[in-house]
Amino acid sequence: MINLIFSRLLLGIFAIPLVSCATVVENAQPSSIPIVYSPKYKINVFGMEKLHPFDIAKYDKIYKGLKKDGLVTEQNTVKPNQLTEEQLLLVHTPEYLKSLKKTKNVASYLEAPQLKIIPNRMIDSMIVSRARLASGGTLAAARLALTNSDKMAINLGGGFHHAKPDVGEGFCIIADVPIAIKVLQKEGKITRALIIDTDIHQGNGTIVCLKDDPTTYTFSMHEGGIYPVPKEVGDRDVEVAAGVTDEVYLKTLEAEIDDLFKKSKPNIVFHVAGCDALEGDPLANGKMSHEGIAKRDALVLAACKRHGVPYVMTLSGGYSKDAWNAQYKSIKSLLEAEAK
Ligand SMILES: [Zn+2]
Repeated sequence: MINLIFSRLLLGIFAIPLVSCATVVENAQPSSIPIVYSPKYKINVFGMEKLHPFDIAKYDKIYKGLKKDGLVTEQNTVKPNQLTEEQLLLVHTPEYLKSLKKTKNVASYLEAPQLKIIPNRMIDSMIVSRARLASGGTLAAARLALTNSDKMAINLGGGFHHAKPDVGEGFCIIADVPIAIKVLQKEGKITRALIIDTDIHQGNGTIVCLKDDPTTYTFSMHEGGIYPVPKEVGDRDVEVAAGVTDEVYLKTLEAEIDDLFKKSKPNIVFHVAGCDALEGDPLANGKMSHEGIAKRDALVLAACKRHGVPYVMTLSGGYSKDAWNAQYKSIKSLLEAEAK
């Protein structure tokens, strides 16, 4: 994975945000769907973050794009709180949380050796606290989805599905979705949860965090033969072949989706909506188009509506230059459809 990171180094350096802070589209109807977001989701490590394949600016680009379209305003933007130590401990071990105080551990979990220049005293403010904030965003979005009339909310971050209770990996250090589930269960807000993971990498961390938990159901649809190897065994795992097209992907997902609701009887759905099945992603081999990603997300949301279950989107992975754009277009289309 580290070799892959450096192979993407030059692309990362020259990545330029394509959305500017241009004028908001006039007469557009702001969406009533809550968008959870903070500019602090973005990590800034003296520009070194651009050497990593994860486009940490994608949250900003998507938010600014939706704002420009008039779909998101200050009114429907919800600023999250960082997860507390007590909340983190519902899933992570105390030893693991202690390990996040050392730069070398965090750099290893994030597969970003260039971060080792950060002094230990600054690792929390520069990196860890931002992951805690984006993870708090997933919890905030879940609370909103459970209480608002639209029964949906979007966190423009999160979906850190490779983080395990005692170790971080695959660019993920906080298991935001499992923690949100445990917090809501503890508060008596939900009993059962379904995770629909359509990032092209298996949500191995989520599976380990929720292993042997009969109140949760993990569904992951991912490419075989790529990270993570070996795969974990979730409640329902569907492997797609390298080179999967829109048609095959959507047909496969459609054949699975209603059964997931029947088996899990969820009070809430967390959609881990990574965009790395897109053609050209450097860390996978999918051949999906922007339209295919939008149809995928609409299919998951439609299933939630059909079954009357609140829907929470988290963004997760996506490493091609235009992954953010596919995600932005998909969210835009969901918000516009909801406004009608
Ligand atoms: Zn991924």
